[in-house]
Amino acid sequence: MRFANAKSKGRCLGREVRVLFQFLAALFSVTLPAVISVEKPFSFKETPGKLPKDVVPTDYSVRIVPDLAKFIFAGTETVKLNVRTPVHSLTLNVLELEITEAIVDGQTLPKSAVKIDKENELLTLTLPSELANGDHTLALSFTGKINQQGQGLFYMRYQEQRSPAAAEKKIMLGTQFEATDARRFFPCWDEPAFRARFQLTAVVPENWLAVSNMPVESEKKMPGGKEVRFAATPPMSSYLNVFVAGELDFIESRSGPTQIRVIATKGKAELGRYALEATAQILQYYNDYFGVPYPLPKLDQIALPGGFGGAMENWGGITYYESALLFDPKNSSAETKQNIYEVIAHEVAHMWFGDLVTMAWWDNLWLNEGFASWMGTKCTARFNPQWEVWLRRNLPRDPSRRVGIAKEQAMEGDARSTTHPIQQPIATEAEANSAFDDITYKKGQSFLRMLESFLGEDVFRGGIRHYIAAHKYSNSTTADLWNALSEASKKPVAEIAAGWIQQPGFPLVKVNREADGKVRLTQERFTVNFKKAPPLEWKIPLTYAVVGEAPTTLLMTSKSVVLENIPADRALKLNAKGSGNYRVEYDEPSWNLLLQALPKLSVEDRVNLLSDAWALVQANRLPVSLYFGLVEKLPASTEIAEREQIINVLDFINGLLVGDPQRDKFQRYARSLLRPTFDALGWESKEGEALTAGNLRASLINALGDLDDPEIIAGCRERFEKYLAHPTSLSPDLRPAVFAVVGRYADEKTWNRLHELGVKTTSIEEKQNYYNALACATDPKLVKKTLGIALTDELPTSRAIFLVSRVARETGHSDIAWDFAKANMKALLAKTDALGANTYAPSLFTFFADDSRADKLKTYAKSSLPSASAPEVAKVVDEIQFRAEFKRRLDSQLGDWIGKKQSPGETRSGGL
Ligand SMILES: [Zn+2]
Repeated sequence: MRFANAKSKGRCLGREVRVLFQFLAALFSVTLPAVISVEKPFSFKETPGKLPKDVVPTDYSVRIVPDLAKFIFAGTETVKLNVRTPVHSLTLNVLELEITEAIVDGQTLPKSAVKIDKENELLTLTLPSELANGDHTLALSFTGKINQQGQGLFYMRYQEQRSPAAAEKKIMLGTQFEATDARRFFPCWDEPAFRARFQLTAVVPENWLAVSNMPVESEKKMPGGKEVRFAATPPMSSYLNVFVAGELDFIESRSGPTQIRVIATKGKAELGRYALEATAQILQYYNDYFGVPYPLPKLDQIALPGGFGGAMENWGGITYYESALLFDPKNSSAETKQNIYEVIAHEVAHMWFGDLVTMAWWDNLWLNEGFASWMGTKCTARFNPQWEVWLRRNLPRDPSRRVGIAKEQAMEGDARSTTHPIQQPIATEAEANSAFDDITYKKGQSFLRMLESFLGEDVFRGGIRHYIAAHKYSNSTTADLWNALSEASKKPVAEIAAGWIQQPGFPLVKVNREADGKVRLTQERFTVNFKKAPPLEWKIPLTYAVVGEAPTTLLMTSKSVVLENIPADRALKLNAKGSGNYRVEYDEPSWNLLLQALPKLSVEDRVNLLSDAWALVQANRLPVSLYFGLVEKLPASTEIAEREQIINVLDFINGLLVGDPQRDKFQRYARSLLRPTFDALGWESKEGEALTAGNLRASLINALGDLDDPEIIAGCRERFEKYLAHPTSLSPDLRPAVFAVVGRYADEKTWNRLHELGVKTTSIEEKQNYYNALACATDPKLVKKTLGIALTDELPTSRAIFLVSRVARETGHSDIAWDFAKANMKALLAKTDALGANTYAPSLFTFFADDSRADKLKTYAKSSLPSASAPEVAKVVDEIQFRAEFKRRLDSQLGDWIGKKQSPGETRSGGL
């Protein structure tokens, strides 16, 4: 699954567990740094979970009849059971379903035999007599709800493309089951290890298209619509089921034996052309990479106009938020195109890693997500090297939002006290849902990338092929993956991996040139705002190179290691291309040699130096002058990954300094760093320019606009006026940025114009661009107007509530956003799912940099939030405290650094 919400949904271990872990880690790390409990290969019986393992469903046949007037549905199902140990009762999962009839082996159970445990989401059927070993049949009738938010079966209201009355909204249905919501659709053994065949039948209006995992087997007319029967799936986990239906269109092609379709609401299917072509390329690549061809007869990719913000890898029927799948060559930006490719590459990788082979339990979620993130990025980079995806990102973002560097995001969170190991114990549904965070996705991906470059690409792929072949149509644990990779590489992969997967955090490697000319490397835990962190050690697959020479690989297995034969006058760079998941701190002589060698470093190595330097500033190991000193020494360039790293840092500081007397001075300095690059690029695209020039141009416009650059603001206003009269006059690449800058400095009249455009358009991507721009407006009166939209149905529910988060982030008025959210919390939370309910309120505090706000959040949590919110509250409290401390530190350090500059002038001079 992929999330594209404004705020990461990251949470971590419960506090007690974390404290215990830290204590144990502290206890053992001194003597036994790498001895961590060893996980076992997959065994159905030993897989964690709530459901007893003595009854196993093998085949489900489910029939659903939705009632669109009342937003309810009626269902029946027949489940073939294999009883392995005689039982007196059956236990399975249900949530918000009412059971109207239960029949076992043809015998109807009395009402008293049917018990629902709401809190544990369990249905227990007490049997009149013992059920013997062997095959049995369970039949259930039930009713359930069609939800407004994207969980279980849900409805979406949307405007049809080119509809004569755009205001008239259509309705369609979709499902979202991961992690634990299949049980809202039909009673089932809803844990990933209970694989079964699923056969779905649904009754829908006659003019609707219905889609599920497998092709339609038969259709027949009935009163009030038609009954659509789908073929049965191969054995799979319940959370991978899908059902989508509405007035839909599709385009199709084939890749070998596989039918590929892109499905969208009427009038939009043709916008799936790019996705269709990308899918064919990606599918072919994976068929070869995994060594097992895609196993289902068809692969549908379905664009949903609401419900959720990301994408979900239902086997054979992947669902996407519309703007993550549909590309309009006339109106979509280059950023959107790249997101689409990356998201498809991620989701299609899940067809093998996740669907064909599924993690045994949610504690191994990283196997699904870390792997799909790594594989998707690898595939995207393979076919689109010019996008620099390894350097730039791996998460789809709103086009208007400047991208974050995926690995960096994970490392930032992983350096804090609130982090957790990639692999973590999962006991409840809430914990399963909260496992979808940066650590799972991005640290997982970073570790796999580091491991692949250590083992070698071919050896790694050999291990993966072996793993897929050995576990297809079954489940696995991390241990199974390490075993396959160890066998292929003849290296102790499990031993190397243990520290990275089962410990929180990551190392810092310190480089010291000693008097005798040797270079000593020492490792320690790298932390930010985390005093008394338990010390930990890792087996680090290190790379290093004397600049200009080929890199060497070294497995660092102890606290300290010495490198011989490094010339005293040559620069030494560790972590070649930044592909390792660790930081490096150089001593002064080493750093100075590196600064002199900058023009000889690859862009990957320069980005790595920038990221490490910034992290060391955050960690209070180095002053901010070290970072800006590096920025000013960089050779002039328009390489996007490098410039975006700098833009992200400037943007962060600019946000931190809202209301600070130094902000003007800082903004002037920041502009002086960015303007030369923008001036070299210009407003208009030029023939022969790099493919990423459009992305960089947009990033710079957005950043310089935020930094109050008068020429950029005037330029955006002028282009917006022209656009209103002639929409084709403004390149789609620049639209999100130009609208955002116009929105930021909007008066009421401009705000209204943007709003009107947003209401009118039937394109989800354009809609987002306009509403994102509204959310940038900083005039407090307009801030309130924007916030009010979150309560209307102008935006899909999954997006509406994040309008408030965006206002908190973009406007410097986090206080107004919070007051609004607090007053309307109930109405806002009605638009989100259970996880959202736990994380939403705390997430709105993220952008405060004032200690008293941390206390306010704690007080609010005590009185108004469920205990499941505790990890998110702890994380945000840590973030506020970090920002407050960092702001105080920056205040004095920035003053010194900028003060030393020879009056930098308005926009032109500076270090570049
Ligand atoms: Zn995923």
